[in-house]
Amino acid sequence: MPITIKPRTKSTELSKLETLARRLPARHPSAPRINDDLAQTRAGYHGEQSIEYYLHTAPASAHLLHDLRLKGPHNYFQLDLLIITASTLHIIEIKNIAGTIHYDPRTGQATRTLAGQTERIRNPLHQIKRQHAALSHWLSARAHPQLPIHTTVIFTNPDTILDTNCPAEFHQSEQLPELFQHYDPDTVPHTELSRDLAQSHKPLNRNLLEKYKIDRHALTRGVYCAHCESRLMQRQRYLWRCPSCAHTSRTAHHTALNEYALLFGNTITNKQAREFLNIRSRTTARTLLRSMRLVHNGKQSNRVYYLK
Ligand SMILES: [Zn+2]
Repeated sequence: MPITIKPRTKSTELSKLETLARRLPARHPSAPRINDDLAQTRAGYHGEQSIEYYLHTAPASAHLLHDLRLKGPHNYFQLDLLIITASTLHIIEIKNIAGTIHYDPRTGQATRTLAGQTERIRNPLHQIKRQHAALSHWLSARAHPQLPIHTTVIFTNPDTILDTNCPAEFHQSEQLPELFQHYDPDTVPHTELSRDLAQSHKPLNRNLLEKYKIDRHALTRGVYCAHCESRLMQRQRYLWRCPSCAHTSRTAHHTALNEYALLFGNTITNKQAREFLNIRSRTTARTLLRSMRLVHNGKQSNRVYYLK
């Protein structure tokens, strides 16, 4: 069992997309694009989770770093999985794409055919070449030893077919154990390098309302019922109550405020909390925010609370 230096976690970007998709009315012009991006991000995450089983077959000495995002010379670059051994670095780009993957070596175009429809996809070969160059630059900029870097694209969907023109770098999940056999299992990699990589990770944290040009007032406000998911709860004395299923909760606003933080950032005022939670009383808002023991700053109406 290899050593996980940086584990895979659900990305903030995915949580943000989920929140946005839930709170944006279906009729909003940006809704289809957001739903597409959400489906793609989710598929990517599931694809990464699905190779877990095969990673057990890597040598016990290998180091695994999942979802690394590092600053390159011009912009950030992202690696789905980096496997470090004593003698090599192995970049694994993970693709969860259903259908038949075609590749034209002459034009460098990659397409996928699914249910009779062919569409162009981003060329994964270009992608791993860029990652290779960026990682190599990163290593030399930080004075790390220049180990040979290998690159592989893993297609995780069990129904995916790779056509015979696909480059040698394209593989399917079940071929991973075979690839791991080329590793040197006996020597231990440099912990220093793995640690520096993990510590240099810069998570993607962007404002999706700006990205999709969505006015904050277009979003549904209120506290969702944890039971029936799509219904908003009403504030009654000391409780949230769902008018639909009668579920009650004392803490349902925690989830809502977490969603607020994902959409608007981690500071909130009493007024903003009232607006977002759909409550009228200033006192109730203060009680709810205080009960969460949030760090705060300022006095009276200028008070700002810091959401975690
Ligand atoms: Zn309910």
